[in-house]
Amino acid sequence: MSRFLSEKYQKLSPYVPGEQPRDRGYIKLNTNESPFPPSEKAIRGAREAAERLMLYPDPEYKLLREAFAKDIGVKPSQVIPANGSDEILDMAFAAYCGDSPAVFPDITYGFYRVFANKRGAPFREIPLGGGFEVVPADYFAAEGTVFLANPNAPTGKLLSLKDIESVVAANTQNVVVIDEAYIDFGGESCVGLINEYENLLVTRTFSKSRSMAGARLGFGIACESLIQDLETLRRSTNPYNVNAMTAAAGICSIADREYFDSCRAEIIRARGEFTAELKNMGFSCTDSKANFVFAKHKSVGGGELYEKLRANGVLVRRFPGGRTEDHLRITIGTSETMRAVAGILKRITEETK
Ligand code: PMP
Repeated sequence: MSRFLSEKYQKLSPYVPGEQPRDRGYIKLNTNESPFPPSEKAIRGAREAAERLMLYPDPEYKLLREAFAKDIGVKPSQVIPANGSDEILDMAFAAYCGDSPAVFPDITYGFYRVFANKRGAPFREIPLGGGFEVVPADYFAAEGTVFLANPNAPTGKLLSLKDIESVVAANTQNVVVIDEAYIDFGGESCVGLINEYENLLVTRTFSKSRSMAGARLGFGIACESLIQDLETLRRSTNPYNVNAMTAAAGICSIADREYFDSCRAEIIRARGEFTAELKNMGFSCTDSKANFVFAKHKSVGGGELYEKLRANGVLVRRFPGGRTEDHLRITIGTSETMRAVAGILKRITEETK
């Protein structure tokens, strides 16, 4: 740290993303990326946009907004594009936290804590229930801006639309942010509620179900007044926050509905098969509706499993300490990959018995 860094950032400890090793050919199941390439239409769109890179992108992102809004059944004025959904979340912490606290589960997306600290906002963490579930009633008198990932990460557990609505309806004095990064893998989106609730902000990403993590594209979806708040922040930071290739790729990805549906159906199928295999080997798994599973073995500890998987060329994610100490979060790859990983896990758990 230099002696020039503003005091407010001196104690900030940044988010630690999953490793992206380049040293060997790992089976990479640690960052919830898609095993499938982006839609060919999206790749073509990005390539064509590359030829016009001497120009700035449209700061309104009119075509991108229209395409995304139409796809999810809202108005273009009810969406805002961003450089990954992390950017929308950061804007939401900036816009709505500080004067009042941020409120989120004790086990959830680790970036929420970092965003709160960066903005100097106090935060309150509400413990998940005994089965790692979010208990909606715990958020009914939040007295702060609520952040809920649905499905939650790293548990994969989903709240029903009715439960989400109950939290939004009980917090009319606060904004409720529903992070739908993983909603396309078996959940019911709450975007339809934005017309009824002026305190609801939904975030979405193209990083997972649309195989575009490297492109960095996310959206906020809310009533017009909340979108205007975020627009003020976006335009005060970087009115060109989505690069032209990504914006074009996003529009073309949306146009390729068939490919999107086939990719997510394949992940859901592989998740079902892999979960069944894990259970046969003595793992307990949460009922994940995301593109990962959250699993714990009855006798082999999380640290040992993690290291042995790594030694066998398989990278997964672990959250040491507390209730998640012995769990692994394993991203779902192709069925073929997951069969290979199940084989490796079977060997490891049998050898360790
Ligand atoms: N929310 C959750 C729950 C996530 O797991 C992630 C991915 N790490 C994000 C948001 C951010 O995704 P992105 O910035 O790639 O859109």
